[in-house]
Amino acid sequence: MTALAILVAAGRGERMGAARPKAFLELGGEPILLKAARSFEAAPSVAGIVAVVPAEEVDLARRLLAPLRKLRAVAAGGARRQDSVLEGLKQAPAGFEGVVLVHDAARPFAEIALIEEVARAAAEHGAALPVLPAVDTVKRIRDGRVVETLDRGELGAAQTPQGFRLALLVRGYEEAFRDRVTVTDEAMAVERLGVAVMAIEGSPRNRKLTTPEDLAWAEGVLAAERAGARA
Ligand code: C5P
Repeated sequence: MTALAILVAAGRGERMGAARPKAFLELGGEPILLKAARSFEAAPSVAGIVAVVPAEEVDLARRLLAPLRKLRAVAAGGARRQDSVLEGLKQAPAGFEGVVLVHDAARPFAEIALIEEVARAAAEHGAALPVLPAVDTVKRIRDGRVVETLDRGELGAAQTPQGFRLALLVRGYEEAFRDRVTVTDEAMAVERLGVAVMAIEGSPRNRKLTTPEDLAWAEGVLAAERAGARA
C-alpha cells in the first residue's frame, strides 16, 4: 500500500505569538516542519511527501526539506485549512489510487506506528483518524452560560494524520466546497457524505503545538528523550 502524506503548514499560528509561521520555529535545533516530515520519511507505507506552506515561505521550505528523499512538492497554501489541503491534493500524481495522509505540521511527534495504523485502516475502510479520548468533562457554552454537559464517554479530540482513499477525500471536498461549508478537519468533509470514518487510538505525544507553552512542553519531551538516550 502506498500513501501520499500532505503536511499542512500554511497557518499563521497567531496563538503562538511569534513573528514567523509556527512550522518554521525551531524545536530541538530544527524547524518543526522538518521534524514532522521526518516521521513520514521514515514510515514504510509513505511513498511521497507534499508540504503546503505560506506562499512567501515556499522557497525556504524547499531548502529546508531538500534532505527528504520522499519530498514530491512544496505548494503555497490558502486562506483556510481546507484551501491549503486542496492545494496539496492537486500535487497527487496523475492516476494515484492510494491513500492520502493529511497531517498538521504543527504535530512533530506523530509516531511511525500511528502513521502506519492510520494508513492501513484508511486503505481498508476508506477513512480513518486518531482520536484521543476526552479527559475533561466538556460543556456546551452559550453567552457565558453552560447550556449542556456532553457525555464524556462518547467524546474524543481529533488528531492527525487523517487518512483517506484519495477519491473519497476528493468527493468530500468537492461537496464541502459546493455547499460552501467550512470544515475544520478532513474527516468532517467525509462524514458529510455519510461515510463511516474509523477512529483509532490517538497518542498524547502527538499534540498540536499551538501556544508557547506547547513549544516548551515539546522541548521538554526532546530533552527527556536525549537524557534517556544518554543513560
Ligand atoms: O490553526 P490550526 O492549529 O488548527 O492549524 C492546523 C494546521 O493546519 C497547522 O499545521 C496549520 O499550519 C495548517 N493550516 C494551513 N492553512 C491554513 C490554516 C491552517 O495549512 N490556512
